Amino acid sequence: MKSRERLWNKRGVLVDLDGTLYRGETPLPGAPEWLARVRRRARVLFLTNNSARPPAEVAARLRRMGFEADEDEVLTSAQVAARFVREAYGAVSTLVLGEKGLWEAVRREGLPAFGPGEIEPESVAVVLQGIHRRCTYADLSEAGLAVRAGARYVLTNPDRALPTERGLMPGAGALAAFIEAASGVRPVTVGKPESPMVEQALHLLNLPKDEVVMVGDNLETDIAAGNRAGVDTVLVLTGYSRAEDADSGIAKPDWILRNLSQWFA
Ligand SMILES: [Mg+2]
Repeated sequence: MKSRERLWNKRGVLVDLDGTLYRGETPLPGAPEWLARVRRRARVLFLTNNSARPPAEVAARLRRMGFEADEDEVLTSAQVAARFVREAYGAVSTLVLGEKGLWEAVRREGLPAFGPGEIEPESVAVVLQGIHRRCTYADLSEAGLAVRAGARYVLTNPDRALPTERGLMPGAGALAAFIEAASGVRPVTVGKPESPMVEQALHLLNLPKDEVVMVGDNLETDIAAGNRAGVDTVLVLTGYSRAEDADSGIAKPDWILRNLSQWFA
């Protein structure tokens, strides 16, 4: 473990949401107080792989649960993906398979965006896909045909399962597995555990890597993303990963905390 002073001196904190700040609709004990105290010294960005909700909705939901949160402090996989497309490929014709958050993000980036059926597969430069809970066989076929015809394929986040009240539902990664099977092409993924999300967060905060820390409950996504981007990481044991998982070698957290109240202890 690195020193606690090193953690307290961070000037940027990248925070995962579910399992880190809240569970379902309930804030985790001590989490709102932790956030308020962290803000005295550091700037905060909320990082979420969820591509369905626009940042304003994510921030409003956090405020309802008692967290101070501004929409400018939210970075979703949809925003990261849309910016990634513009920076890597330019403002090119983009076939969008996704929900409100992804459509809002592509519009903000000024990408010429089309839904399935609005553009010929051969004219598509990029297929951009996130979670899309109303997507049909025809929609997925358009994406597969476009990728087969040479379009780049960008995925917001690789999560195959989405926890809901009914159990695990298919996530963006499950739809991607369908398109991948149909096209034979693997997508470029921008959300956690890949590094583009953390890299864009560093750019937004305009801080060097060693002044920033990533905190999350999932070794395979949050901690792995921090490791890959080269920032320090904190694993909190209030969600997905267990203490014994930390020795599995999946990813290497710099600090492990039972909960966020331990941050300043
Ligand atoms: Mg989480």
